[in-house]
Amino acid sequence: MLKGKMCVVTGAARGIGYEIAKVFADNGAELALVDMAFDEDFHFPYGEYRKYTTDVRDFEKVNETINSILEDFKRIDILVNNAGITKDNLILRMKPEEWNNVINVNLNGVFNVTKACVKSILKSEAGSIINISSVIGLMGNAGQSNYAASKAGVIGFTRSLAKELAGKNVRVNAVAPGFIRTAMTDKLNEKQQEAIMGNIPLGKMGTPEDIANVCLFFASSQSSYVTGQVIGVDGGMTMY
Ligand code: NAP
Repeated sequence: MLKGKMCVVTGAARGIGYEIAKVFADNGAELALVDMAFDEDFHFPYGEYRKYTTDVRDFEKVNETINSILEDFKRIDILVNNAGITKDNLILRMKPEEWNNVINVNLNGVFNVTKACVKSILKSEAGSIINISSVIGLMGNAGQSNYAASKAGVIGFTRSLAKELAGKNVRVNAVAPGFIRTAMTDKLNEKQQEAIMGNIPLGKMGTPEDIANVCLFFASSQSSYVTGQVIGVDGGMTMY
């Protein structure tokens, strides 16, 4: 489904980003994997790829990285803004660094990478930008005001950019994962996980592959008439 497409995936060293890259590679894409760091034993036996180390918070560094990607691959058709972090705290205890760091990675990072890629994506015949938001950006969550604000911001960014770029046939959509088994959710204790499970109609956590499959839909021509949308991949937690 993605043969001949060149895709950039951020936060691709592990978790959901790694799985998105794997599913894209399985479907014929060429890949630039971007992350803060790749473990020495990083292994990606799925197809054509190169890896690039960058911090999405750093506008200049991101520009250098995307320029290197363009030197290597000559074009970008698809961007998945997936890199993200949590730094949970109640507002009474939340330090400005915790607020700023989450906004810097999850929202400013999306701006930085998109801005660096957009000129090239506009030249693609069928460009697609996919932003990974979260159900928390739709519903809010006590102790996650920073994360919820960043992910709600990603949704506003997605819809605005969808309107801005539609004339050039570049589509911009968001995926809002629910609770997906990765290092991010492994941090939750048993009590927190039980409470979450009670709010998931399908009664189970999702897998990175569940998210990757919806990203594949947004990346491919299967969704050629879909833009500005947010799809919850959350076992039914949000039903809009
Ligand atoms: P993860 O396992 O923690 O992976 C996130 C990846 O992003 C890591 O490789 C991380 O690198 C990288 N990253 C963090 N900060 C970065 C930065 N400044 N620059 C470049 N890369 C950076 O998380 P995940 O669960 O796969 O989450 C992926 C995305 O899905 C995130 O946007 C997250 O908010 C969203 N999401 C996840 C869930 C869930 O249940 N897991 C639910 C809703 C939304 P390091 O390892 O070096 O930090």
